Amino acid sequence: MSLSATVATPSGAKITVPTGLFIDNEWVPSADSQEKLQCINPATEELICEVVAASEKDIDIAVAAARRAFKTTWGKNVTGFERSRLIHKLADLIERDAQQLAELETLNNGKPVKIARDFDIGDSVGCLRYYAGWADKILGQTIEVDNKTKLAFTRHDPIGVCGQIIPWNYPINMWAWKVAPALAVGCTIVMKPSELTPLTALKLSELVKEAGFPPGVINTVPSLGGVGGAALSSHKDVDKVAFTGSTVTGRKIMEAAAKSNLKKVSLELGGKSPHIVFESADLDQAANWAALGILYNTGQDCTAGSRLFVQDSIYDKFISILAAKAKELTIGDGFDEKTGGGPVVSKTQYERVWGYIEAGKQAGAKCILGGTKRPGKGYFIDPTIFTDVTPDMKIVREEIFGPVLSVARFKTEKEAIELANDTTYGLGAGLHSKDSDQCMRVASALEAGTVWVNQYNLLNNNVPFGGKKQSGIGRELGFDALQEYISVKAVHYNFGEKLDWPL
Ligand code: NAD
Repeated sequence: MSLSATVATPSGAKITVPTGLFIDNEWVPSADSQEKLQCINPATEELICEVVAASEKDIDIAVAAARRAFKTTWGKNVTGFERSRLIHKLADLIERDAQQLAELETLNNGKPVKIARDFDIGDSVGCLRYYAGWADKILGQTIEVDNKTKLAFTRHDPIGVCGQIIPWNYPINMWAWKVAPALAVGCTIVMKPSELTPLTALKLSELVKEAGFPPGVINTVPSLGGVGGAALSSHKDVDKVAFTGSTVTGRKIMEAAAKSNLKKVSLELGGKSPHIVFESADLDQAANWAALGILYNTGQDCTAGSRLFVQDSIYDKFISILAAKAKELTIGDGFDEKTGGGPVVSKTQYERVWGYIEAGKQAGAKCILGGTKRPGKGYFIDPTIFTDVTPDMKIVREEIFGPVLSVARFKTEKEAIELANDTTYGLGAGLHSKDSDQCMRVASALEAGTVWVNQYNLLNNNVPFGGKKQSGIGRELGFDALQEYISVKAVHYNFGEKLDWPL
């Protein structure tokens, strides 16, 4: 059975893609299943290739490989210096192959090649290098106990075997955010990419082997969520699951973790992030950030600023600036240089997003941009803006995950904060104002894991990211992400105290 496919891209490149499971640094078929995942190009709706779908038994095999590596090599006797060197090496190889990886990402996910290459991959390389820097700086503490006969110290040990379940909106980025901190502290990994976009995770696995990681350190098992994802979440020999995706799935993962072995869980879930424009703001700049907030990655962004609140006094003026800017974005084939946003990822997402657009129209919201389907192939959805929305509307309450913005007005700062916080989510929030006191007041009052002031959506690898409320548990990026993969052991050491017995 062939475990690779050659795919041609519109640029003329021919890319060989592994299509098997990556376990113990080898490409293997499923142990007991003939199931395949179909990888579809969302710009053309054509099949790119099929890859092996891991079964429950394959997950067992991958977890056993990760456990062996944890006990014998990576988690046991590979030093922080060596972990750092290998992570840097992996980053070098990703930089070397950036164009090829970007084209593959575009084929499978739809996003523009230049964005995949310069942002997703550029940022992923930065993420690997940031955590490579930490690998030899994992420090415990020495703690004073009695100053004479005893001391205590802590070891920051790797937590063990980690199941990592990632979504389809940033297949390379989410891979890097998950593997980099886990590798840095000495964990081993079973990675389950989304069934929709497994190709770049498979290609990255080739680079893992080329970089020289020992077998079993990273294992890649594309699979349906209800099969491979569920098996990882309920596996008794997995010590931690890290997940990015929907809140519904996050809930299932936490339940499975609780019912199996109480494994540690970190969840990066959805959002319905508010974006507030006050009357003192630089309106042109605020409109640029608001457009980026909802249209970046065609709105398939957990932090998408999908609820915009604009102060009454500038409402009409701001909306006309914003609508003109949103119209300027070209949604098209990611291989076209002019394209600023690709199609949405799949037919299911396309239908889902259109369901919300229809719901908005039916509820009486005013569609001032977009709202009309394009003829022809490809899951393209143009920027869509609804005004005159009310807080109870479905398009205001639920995560759409497409380029669909709802806009409402407010009179006072207090009202803006109340509207912004009126959601079960708490991932991101943004505000624009030239009044610095107002910026500090509102930033403190917003219930979100990340607040952007006079900007939106930009993240840094050294700054923690994650959600409040039902947007998640735990943090990715920055120093905080290391804690998600560490198990703290306290050692109480006695070098003199005698115990008199009986008590
Ligand atoms: P999803 O949560 O179902 O999928 C994300 C990942 O979870 C995939 O790898 C999937 O295979 C896996 N998964 C699915 N069911 C699972 C289970 N029972 N146990 C373990 N893993 C499982 O998301 P989706 O269905 O692809 O998209 C639906 C909605 O989720 C989107 O419209 C969007 O609102 C949201 N979403 C959010 C993010 C994010 O970055 N926060 C990413 C993708 C999707």
